[in-house]
Amino acid sequence: MKTYDVVIIGAGAAGLMCALTAGYRGLRVRVVDHASKAGKKILMSGGGRCNFTNLATTPAHFFSRNPHFSISALKRYTPHHFVELVERHGVEYVEKAPGQLFCAQSAKEIVSLLLTECEWAGVEVSLSTTVGRVERLGEGMQLEIDGRGVAAGAVVVATGGLSVPTLGASGFGYDLARQFGLAVTETRAALVPFTVTSQWKASLASLSGLSCPVVASCGDGAYREPLLFTHRGLSGPAMLQASSHWLPGMPVAIDWLPSTPVAETLADLRRRVPRRRLGSWLGELLPKRLSQALIEWQGWQDRPLAELSNADIDAVASGLGAWQFKPAGTEGWRTAEVTMGGVDTAAVSSKTFAVDALPQLYFIGEVLDVTGQLGGFNFQWAWSSGVACGQAI
Ligand code: FAD
Repeated sequence: MKTYDVVIIGAGAAGLMCALTAGYRGLRVRVVDHASKAGKKILMSGGGRCNFTNLATTPAHFFSRNPHFSISALKRYTPHHFVELVERHGVEYVEKAPGQLFCAQSAKEIVSLLLTECEWAGVEVSLSTTVGRVERLGEGMQLEIDGRGVAAGAVVVATGGLSVPTLGASGFGYDLARQFGLAVTETRAALVPFTVTSQWKASLASLSGLSCPVVASCGDGAYREPLLFTHRGLSGPAMLQASSHWLPGMPVAIDWLPSTPVAETLADLRRRVPRRRLGSWLGELLPKRLSQALIEWQGWQDRPLAELSNADIDAVASGLGAWQFKPAGTEGWRTAEVTMGGVDTAAVSSKTFAVDALPQLYFIGEVLDVTGQLGGFNFQWAWSSGVACGQAI
């Protein structure tokens, strides 16, 4: 039987980072993945440019049943450490939005950086490879890989979440966690566009492709980001962020003019330019088609401002400041960027990522119940948890 110090299941962001870290420590490391390519999600991420970190990363950017779980790993391997690695490989990057770093050319460079480091660190990477049973074997572990028994001092589960099954996502990591007695918190698709009822679909279809900056609020989350109308519903960073707070039946509120004090502005204009129409004012602040649609949806009349009573102005202000809609649902796993929930961190060490009751078994990355907001935080979690684990094995 072939023996390794560590077998890592999943050649994604966390698995490769963990592998190269452990490999540089002189451990015999094998990474196995059932997909035909390593890092498929990295390749697809950030529109092909991979938003590989966020310089502003703090534990507050993550959702987890235990909000303290991410502190230690994020502190030990920071965005600056990853940027240093990126720079060492000569990968050019751009800061597209404050703190959000993307490859200037292609996400391929991040995968190739990780695979190069793995090669230098002596890591064996096996793709298109099937992992069967995983069992405890004395002080170590035994796995069935492509039907053959393999012994390992440690097994690291880095199988990611459930989003985008066509990129290799599977529930294997959750099944393994349950097999070894760990709890798995409820999983749901997050960072995902909203769908709307068929009644709304028709009116939204004419707006498809329009984007505008809004503040979207849902539950206890509020995000100032662009919203994008699509032919299926509502998307864009504002909606993706809101989706992480959304549960079926909840409304999402949108402030269409977050930078404009609407009531004061309208009252002032009513005095100064009384013949100006509501639609012409709104059409200057929002895309024309959207301003017309909002007037229609709210049942406002496109009247001269002089005809608006104070109550009318208040109604317009609240209609623009807190427009509410109830999503029919989300686009689900097919397009979600991440999985909310996962392996419960209660039984996992936040320092080493080992299972408390079975220290030769580790869980890292998105398979854990740690989910980042949009903006490069999820990759930073993959790097930080991968390094912490790779140093600890
Ligand atoms: P993954 O990277 O998902 O890796 C898991 C690996 O495990 C995969 O290679 C998979 O094939 C393998 N695997 C699964 N099951 C098995 C099995 N049974 N046997 C063997 N192997 C298995 N995050 C950001 O921070 N910035 C972005 O720009 C960004 N863009 C994204 C765009 C898209 C379209 C998607 C889907 C996600 C995006 N994310 C982004 C999220 C980010 O990709 C993930 O959070 C991150 O990849 C998680 O890393 P991971 O290593 O835990 O899991």
